[in-house]
Amino acid sequence: MSRQVVIVGAGVLGAATACFLARDHGFEVTLLERDTGFTRASSSLSASSIRQQFSTAVNIELSRWSLAFLRRAAQELAVGDERPALGLVEPGYLYLARAGTQAQLRAAHALQRAAGADVALLEPPALRARFPWLNTDDLALGSLGLSGEGWFDGPALHRAFLRKARACGARLVRAEALGFETRGARVLGVRLADGACVAAQDVVLCAGAWSAALAARLGLAWPVRARKRDVFVFDSPAALPGCPLLIDPGGVWCRPEGRGYIAGAPPRARADGGPGDPDEPDLQAIDHGLFEQVIWPALAARVPAFEALRLRSAWAGYYEMNDFDHNGLAGAVPGWAGLWTACGFSGHGMQQAPAVGCALAAAIADSPATAAEPQAAPSIEALSPQRLERGERLVELNVI
Ligand SMILES: Cc1cc2nc3c(=O)[nH]c(=O)nc-3n(C[C@H](O)[C@H](O)[C@H](O)COP(=O)(O)OP(=O)(O)OC[C@H]3O[C@@H](n4cnc5c(N)ncnc54)[C@H](O)[C@@H]3O)c2cc1C
Repeated sequence: MSRQVVIVGAGVLGAATACFLARDHGFEVTLLERDTGFTRASSSLSASSIRQQFSTAVNIELSRWSLAFLRRAAQELAVGDERPALGLVEPGYLYLARAGTQAQLRAAHALQRAAGADVALLEPPALRARFPWLNTDDLALGSLGLSGEGWFDGPALHRAFLRKARACGARLVRAEALGFETRGARVLGVRLADGACVAAQDVVLCAGAWSAALAARLGLAWPVRARKRDVFVFDSPAALPGCPLLIDPGGVWCRPEGRGYIAGAPPRARADGGPGDPDEPDLQAIDHGLFEQVIWPALAARVPAFEALRLRSAWAGYYEMNDFDHNGLAGAVPGWAGLWTACGFSGHGMQQAPAVGCALAAAIADSPATAAEPQAAPSIEALSPQRLERGERLVELNVI
């Protein structure tokens, strides 16, 4: 009998892990998901962009691996004649810096080049020549991804992983996990809200922003929290040829989406002195003041043509924020035999799901080679949850 794995949470990380386990290792996989409409899942509410401009080598490697996978996803995730269309485009990211912050951009650039990222530093004249619609008056430097960065249809990737996993024998079961069945320091299965227990040799915790609540059932204090991020959709008559994903020095970002644009920014400090970035606030409570008072002024200053933009709609989702160091937790969970996780990706989990899913499946199977995968599984050792216990932060500075 093949090995049985239960995955809690069927967002993009659970679905990718299930897909690689079932497709490449022949495991019997059960995905437990409490909301099969994925209404509040980060994977449904993502901006689904992919970049190489990180400050840690592991993130560059995982995103580069995932990008190569996305380019051939139509073959990798085909089910019969059905091939997923992910709409991947690669216009790059453009990080902008004023004089005071250009040193950070230069340091990240050196690391990114050493890791093989196709990025270039551009002084203001070069920025103006390439993007004549951009106001560079207050800028000292820009860092542009020349290839391998852009955006894609994230929910379509999520659906494609689920479809492929199920075609390879994985079961998607609508159920809420409440805790674990254990003997000594071994996890034997997952306890459900209806009292049933699903037994497995291995359990993988992929519950996104809600992972810490489940980990707490085993006495683990994980720093993963649900941090709301608002995304605003706007129309503009401006034509911005070659527009990349722009990140202004203050943290406001925007990029083209369909016939319009989307934009966002870190949350504002609250006027009443409450926490500016609370845990799991209402997703319906969009902060329209953030757009009016922060995002629009910054966009109009950077791209004068955006003075005349028209806000169309907005949505919000949770970053599954790892407050410890803003990086994912992936791999075996120390102290508990048979327990694994992939969670806490802090706003870059959509783009890393292919690489992390492949690597985690290989680790669970204890088999580095995968059947259909032309690239060797990447290493996720640096993301081991062990660093929580050791107090060793792997800080990612480029969290958008
Ligand atoms: C506004 C926004 C913009 C983003 N932009 C980007 C981007 O540009 N690029 C990028 O790479 N990433 C981005 N992200 C982050 C990315 O979307 C996430 O990192 C990724 O989707 C996380 O996937 P996940 O599977 O861990 O979590 P989720 O998609 O949240 O899935 C977790 C699942 O677990 C289920 N679950 C939870 N608890 C239980 C339980 N007890 N029992 C059963 N099921 C349970 C939930 O219902 C959920 O479906 C963005 C996120 C947001 C919100």
